[in-house]
Formats: sequence, C-alpha cells, structure tokens
Amino acid sequence: MRILVVEDERRLASSLRTGLEAEGFAVDVAYDGGEGLWYARENSYDAILLDIMLPVLNGYKVCETLRSEQNWTPILMLTAKDGDWDQVEALDTGADDYVTKPFSFQVLLARLRSLLRRGVVERPTRLRVGEVELDPAAKQVFLDGDEVGLTAREFAMLHFLMRRAGAVVTKAEILENVWDYGFEGDPNIVEVYVARLRRKVGRDLVETMRGLGYRVGAE
Ligand code: CA
Repeated sequence: MRILVVEDERRLASSLRTGLEAEGFAVDVAYDGGEGLWYARENSYDAILLDIMLPVLNGYKVCETLRSEQNWTPILMLTAKDGDWDQVEALDTGADDYVTKPFSFQVLLARLRSLLRRGVVERPTRLRVGEVELDPAAKQVFLDGDEVGLTAREFAMLHFLMRRAGAVVTKAEILENVWDYGFEGDPNIVEVYVARLRRKVGRDLVETMRGLGYRVGAE
C-alpha cells in the first residue's frame, strides 16, 4: 500500500513517515500543496494524507483539483482547528474523512485503515442552494434541472459562494479565491460578475449584504 503524505511541518511529516513505514506502508512525502498535487498526479496512491494549511496551494485546493480531474484516491484531511467550518469544508471539497490536529498516531491509523477498506469511492460532491445545483467535478450548473452555461470565471465564483452558503463573503475574499492573490485590477469586477450570475441563475440567489459583501442561501 502506497501513501502520499502532504504536510509542511517537517517534524510531523517525518514522524508520519516513520510510523506508516513501520506499519508496512510505502510512503512519499510532499512539503507543499504544489508538490503534493504533482506527486498525486504522477503516481498512484492507495490514500493521501493531506494537511490544509500548506504553502503554494492549500489542501482544499489540492483536493478540489484532484477531484475535478476525476482522481478519486481516498483523502484523509489533517485539519488544524476544531471548527465545524474547517471540517465541513474538507468534506465539501471532496475529502473522504478528516482528523483534527493534534491527533494520536493510533487514531490516524484507524481512520486510514477504514478509508483503505472502503477503497475508491467516486462521489462528485454536488452542491445545492434552492433551485441551483452545482457539480464541481463535471463543471456544470443546473437551474431547476436545466443546465446553465457559465464561463470558467462565473463558475469559479458561483462555486466559491455556494461552498460558503449561508455565510457572508467579502469582496476581498472573492477576489483572493476566484481571481487569485495577485489580482491588481478593479475590485468592482466582483459586482460585474454578481450581476452576470444573477442574470443566469436567478436574481434572488446572490444577496447583497450592504457594506459587508454577498451571501448565497439564507443563514
Ligand atoms: Ca501546515
């Protein structure tokens, strides 16, 4: 059984490697999200242990990217905090299970074994808010069951908002996540895209929270 560990804390990564190797697993270690994605694409693993807070590309993005490429390798997320949001987010992006740091190696091993027993499960995580359904893997959006044509950017923005359904999302957060950190253009581009989404998936889907940002779906 071959396991990929993606973890930037060197000591934790190395103790995971030692522990897993002692249990008879073959282990590769990547120290940032970009490297982790590369390993996961180049090799075939029985499972991936994926930290969330990682340099280059965070664990959510690594997970989401792999799932969008139809890579269903079981993923166990290592979440840093005990917040519900973190864990829900991990599962929303297509992870199979999570353990919260700090965890005991025995707990991790038990979770990992249970994932390995289950094997590969193809489960594209469709998101739904009201009449709108979004399929991250197929990159499709449906309104009342009918497919809606969105550009890649419109899709990315709707996906971001729907993953945070019920929460208020600021313009800055949208820019960071949908336009990447280096965005230096006019922040009002967000309003332009909100208007386009309203036109395509219904006026009521994206609510403007004056002075705060936007919200999809009620609290
Ligand atoms: Ca980390």
